[in-house]
Amino acid sequence: MWYIPGEMMNNPYLLLTPGPLSTSATVREAMMKDWCTWDDDYNQGVVQPIRRRLVAMATGEPGYTSVLMQGSGTAGVEAVLGSALPADGKLLVLVNGAYGRRMADIARCLRIPVVTAEVAETEPLSAELLTRELAADPAISHVAFVHCETTTGILNPLPELCAVTKAAGRVLVVDAMSSFGGVPMDVGDLAVDFLISSANKCIQGVPGFSFVIAREAAMYECEGRARSVSLDLFDQWQCMERQGGKWRFTSPTHVVRAFDQALAELEQEGGVQARHRRYQTNQDTLVAGMERLGFRPLVASDWQSPIITVFAAPDSPDYDFKRFYLGLKARGYVIYPGKVSTVDCFRIGTIGEVYQQDVAGLLAAIEDVIFW
Ligand SMILES: *Cc1c(COP(=O)(O)O)cnc(C)c1O
Repeated sequence: MWYIPGEMMNNPYLLLTPGPLSTSATVREAMMKDWCTWDDDYNQGVVQPIRRRLVAMATGEPGYTSVLMQGSGTAGVEAVLGSALPADGKLLVLVNGAYGRRMADIARCLRIPVVTAEVAETEPLSAELLTRELAADPAISHVAFVHCETTTGILNPLPELCAVTKAAGRVLVVDAMSSFGGVPMDVGDLAVDFLISSANKCIQGVPGFSFVIAREAAMYECEGRARSVSLDLFDQWQCMERQGGKWRFTSPTHVVRAFDQALAELEQEGGVQARHRRYQTNQDTLVAGMERLGFRPLVASDWQSPIITVFAAPDSPDYDFKRFYLGLKARGYVIYPGKVSTVDCFRIGTIGEVYQQDVAGLLAAIEDVIFW
């Protein structure tokens, strides 16, 4: 069966970090062979089915395609922004955390004209803000924002933000890195032009590549626009389309095999809905247990995703994150430092090969380690 408890995974500890995350033993085993990067067994047999399954997972609507890109998730974001914006384009990035800010940084580095609209890190983005910004600046051609802002675990209001962008006739780029595969969405219904995610988040593969799900018509617009050779989204897509799943440059073959296995395990689990329920159970268990131990989540439950949760650091002079972290690590659990700029906090991820029993084990470890 696909369920393997954390302590039997032959790992030194359970990762409660949202990428890389804890993977199943069977996903890791899929990497134990060498695969040729240009052979049909690999391209036609593994890469092409992955591309089709990603599109099928994203939407039932026609006119969508997918492309895989070497590198971490950020490389996928950089490939999309660097390839989608025309020379006379202008990008609006909505920001409520580090990953939104990173998209604006990428645009600046690529000399793409960019404006940002920011809200506090503990607040969700709003359709009103987006409507105002678009009305004020007709030069904006593209809009980008993060769906689940992993800085806080806030789930931004995807349907509202997509509807406003499309009603205003702008091209829509969504960083769904930490939500795609774990939070149900229909990319076609939302009319997303480019959605970016990566191998090592909710699909529970290992790190090494990102993928983009895009409207075919929007992909054709990218021809000749890229600001980088290795991150040219259009060229990579055309190579995969015309040469049966071939990557332009060396592909991370072992990682792709592991991803193929991870997709099979997602299907076995019952698909995105079932995975979402498991993550939600994990997160509910975590928050209830943490509140019992006196911790307070930083984000209002209305906006909280099941992906990752931020807790305020205990209000005690004796508390020290490093000591807390090492105590938990010695007991088999690895958590994440905080990333909210203004508050002392830490984060706990509830995605990956992690089940309610694992969260219960973590809570027992936290109770055991409290030293303040
Ligand atoms: C993980 C993540 C990324 C990409 O991070 P990498 O370290 O480059 O893989 C981008 N955006 C969000 C929202 C993420 O959670």
